[in-house]
Amino acid sequence: MIVILKPNPNRDQLDSLIAWLQEKGVVIHTSVGEHSTILGLVGDTSQLDADLIAALDIVEGVRRIQEPYKKANRKFHPEDTVVQVGNTQVGGGNLTLMAGPCSVESEEQVVAIAKAVKASGATLLRGGAFKPRTSPYSFQGLGAMGLEFLKVARQETGLPIVTELMDMSQLPLFKDVDLIQIGARNMQNFDLLKAVGQQDKPVMIKRGMSATYEEWLMSAEYVMAGGNPNVILCERGVRTFETYTRNTLDITAIPVLRKLTHLPIIIDPSHAAGKSWLVDPLARGAVAAGCDGLLIEVHNDPATALCDGPQSLRPEVFDTLARKLLTLHETMKTLEG
Ligand code: PEP
Ligand code: MN
Repeated sequence: MIVILKPNPNRDQLDSLIAWLQEKGVVIHTSVGEHSTILGLVGDTSQLDADLIAALDIVEGVRRIQEPYKKANRKFHPEDTVVQVGNTQVGGGNLTLMAGPCSVESEEQVVAIAKAVKASGATLLRGGAFKPRTSPYSFQGLGAMGLEFLKVARQETGLPIVTELMDMSQLPLFKDVDLIQIGARNMQNFDLLKAVGQQDKPVMIKRGMSATYEEWLMSAEYVMAGGNPNVILCERGVRTFETYTRNTLDITAIPVLRKLTHLPIIIDPSHAAGKSWLVDPLARGAVAAGCDGLLIEVHNDPATALCDGPQSLRPEVFDTLARKLLTLHETMKTLEG
């Protein structure tokens, strides 16, 4: 971090700033120029509040030269992280397909979809029991009963289950879940992030609809700082001026995150597009750009789905797509050597 001082800083204020910084454990390199003085701070500056320093009378400006996230940062952890979820691994060269209905609607429904997506090559069953809905009058999910139906589907198929945790109070019910999803709307629910950081199930954090890469990585940092290193990131589209699609899928997130972090990257084309016919091309684009897996909504009868029917694929459409994606992934591996 670099602190640029105003010309002729008050000596007492400067001394107390330097003493305070040294107390925080950083080493200070001072460079005195003709017009201004610059303090170069070396060491762990992640704990320093740059805005607080910038607000001091003697300070002209502050520039961070290192990212504020440490545990999620590839610089300090060059190898890719592989997250074990039940009997499957996310990251490390695999293409993970997680699929299932937006909402668990009944035991028969989720078991039938689980069997179908497994036969098509999915290795994780994704379904919502607690649903974050924009309207309080929309179907809110089956709650605890939905979790029980997911467990039945896991027993029938062997597929580990992924489902969204909306509130800390639900955590005791999630002991048996294989991967906890934190939804876009909760990406910056810091108490929830702290809570999942203190338990040992892997966590998938969806990107907030207007979150920057750094804000998203800081959310991962919350979970990791709590002691849980098993974090997966999921891009699900961001909000832009475009209204034709539900969101705009940010494919750029894949190479950027690959550079910034060692955590696995999942792409959710279903919530990005909001339209089922767009899921196939977006998913192919994401695989070609190097994602570690996809989250795709599949419903046995999209027309009657209680949530997100328009973006859900029928099992037979998912089957064709899954085979294409797995083949494309293998092809990309050979192309990249
Ligand atoms: C979901 O995954 O069903 C969901 C609600 O997604 P998001 O949090 O990305 O909107
Ligand atoms: Mn959904």
